[in-house]
Amino acid sequence: MCWMAAACLCLLLAGCGKGSVKDVIPKKKLEGNSLYVKKVENLPEDFICGMDASSVLAEEASGVVYRNYAGEEQDVFQTLAEAGVNTIRVRVWNDPFDAEGNGFGGGNCNIDTAVEIGKRATGFGMSLLVDFHYSDFWADPNKQMCPRAWEGMAIEEKTEAAYQYTKECLEKLKKAGVKVRMVQVGNETNGALAGETKWFDIQYIMQAGAKATREVFPKALVAVHFANPETAGRYMDYAKKLDYYQVDYDVFASSYYPFWHGTLENLGNVLSEVAQTYGKKTLIVETSYAYTGEDTDFSGNTIGDGSAVVKNYPYTVQGQANSVRDVFDVAANHAKDCLGVVYWEGTWISVGGSSWEENSALWEKYGSGWASSYAAAYDPDDAGKYYGGSAVDNQAMFDAEGKPLESLQVFNLIRYGNEVPVKADALEDTYLEVDLNGTIAMPEKVNAVMNDGSKQEVPVTWKVTDAELQKMYEGGPAKYEIAGEAEGMQARCYLSMVEYNFLENPGFEDGGSEGWFVEDRGGADQIYAEEKGTDSLSGTWHMHFWSAKPGTVDFNLMQLVRDLPAGDYRFEISIMGGDAGETEIYPFVMLGGEMIRGDLMEITWYNDWHTGGVAKFTVPEGELVTVGLHVKCAGEGNGAWGKIDDAKLNSVSE
Ligand code: CA
Repeated sequence: MCWMAAACLCLLLAGCGKGSVKDVIPKKKLEGNSLYVKKVENLPEDFICGMDASSVLAEEASGVVYRNYAGEEQDVFQTLAEAGVNTIRVRVWNDPFDAEGNGFGGGNCNIDTAVEIGKRATGFGMSLLVDFHYSDFWADPNKQMCPRAWEGMAIEEKTEAAYQYTKECLEKLKKAGVKVRMVQVGNETNGALAGETKWFDIQYIMQAGAKATREVFPKALVAVHFANPETAGRYMDYAKKLDYYQVDYDVFASSYYPFWHGTLENLGNVLSEVAQTYGKKTLIVETSYAYTGEDTDFSGNTIGDGSAVVKNYPYTVQGQANSVRDVFDVAANHAKDCLGVVYWEGTWISVGGSSWEENSALWEKYGSGWASSYAAAYDPDDAGKYYGGSAVDNQAMFDAEGKPLESLQVFNLIRYGNEVPVKADALEDTYLEVDLNGTIAMPEKVNAVMNDGSKQEVPVTWKVTDAELQKMYEGGPAKYEIAGEAEGMQARCYLSMVEYNFLENPGFEDGGSEGWFVEDRGGADQIYAEEKGTDSLSGTWHMHFWSAKPGTVDFNLMQLVRDLPAGDYRFEISIMGGDAGETEIYPFVMLGGEMIRGDLMEITWYNDWHTGGVAKFTVPEGELVTVGLHVKCAGEGNGAWGKIDDAKLNSVSE
């Protein structure tokens, strides 16, 4: 099997038998790194600087060659230790193989791979964090499938099986001389474990794992592990249940993926609350970030180019380093009694083929992709269908050729800081909306994210000619992408040519009701322009109304437009809200003493925007025009409320 070959390689390269520990973890600052790293204060000496490297053996079997900074082949565990990693995490599945011995993938990680990885890690002075999934394949918030060998067992029998299994596994590690620092009883066990979905049963499996750990490695810590710290109340709910059932554990561990799991501040808060209330240690046991938006192995990634992620950190090596550094900062200085941070699968790179077919053959044979087709024997609906390569190759800390990225040394540099000169690291895209009667004024500066994480404006040159801009005017409403250059990097401007809006402050983005007049006929409690992005149809401002007393929402929101060129026009406006009761809402246009009403509009519920308008009307030369929205609501519940946004007065040409 693949790990046998890897084990031999290990012995050759590292000589990692018992008693030949080569401690290469640096005790001083690594020099020559070009990344900006702000020092993390108050880092304890033994703070966990961890790396989950579960797929390394399958990667090596697939032909991946890991290198050092000089580009020479070197044991990846040596490279990790030399960068300041002191703990290796490895997942353990009970039996990730089908009846014919074909691996399910994801590193085909069972206790044998854990032993080999543990030996190599120990050989370079690092300790092991053993992550039992208690499943035959991936366990996470979406699935916690029962190992096939435990299928159909009553909870008492399953508990005994979990205890025996954990004990046997840990004894193998002990016999191999592996330094085990912590044992996780379950992986991201959000309300399920080993097929059990009631806490009354889940806790027995956790207890069984804890008991075996205490017996085999009395000095190791027992950890429980959950995900989704962003859900309010979730962690305290779990901690309370663990306490109620008196589950024997030391560490309450959390995953933290910045693109899914809320703010770092919230993470620190929810972990602190558990530590404070129940006297437990905490740990950020999984985190990662992309160093590039590009995929390198022909198998899609969890984040990257095209993903709708708010990029507080650009997808660069520096952005990755900054993200990890900030997670460490929260661990050391905000989350109470936090033992450290473990990066997830920083070694899971492309197996290096030049096509999907070539890679797929390796993933199938050696289990180096996230899942192989053989996983259908256990998980036919997900892994068995969507099997493929690495979804995190762009979040590794090694490039596609196996050479470590500078960001890997963040594990060392956070202890000392590496405050190199501040310079631009990435450019933010520019968005420009220009109406057809306006002028395309290409911005002279764009926002840059600097290597220290700050933002600055930098001068930009756009690669567009006047003739090309002229064509964009003549092309009607359309979208364009214009390339540019700033600080030696490529800049991008997304230009939308839109029809001319003859209204002033049409979406209230001037920061008030400038240009508008409210005729309040019912005496509503509140009618004003409000800044709240989540309640706006576009931008961050809108017109807000609310009134507690029934029947008091009765107003006209209007704008008088002078000097409108003669021609045909269209008026449009949008509204959403709730608790409206019976309503009479319509858009209108007043023209030459006549009122033209649009169709009646309705208010339904939050965020359900309705757009109405007056489709076409003719304005003679010199005529004053008033456009507006009539809103009358009987109100119910706590009183009618609503939001009005994005008024448009466009000329209609045909
Ligand atoms: Ca990929």
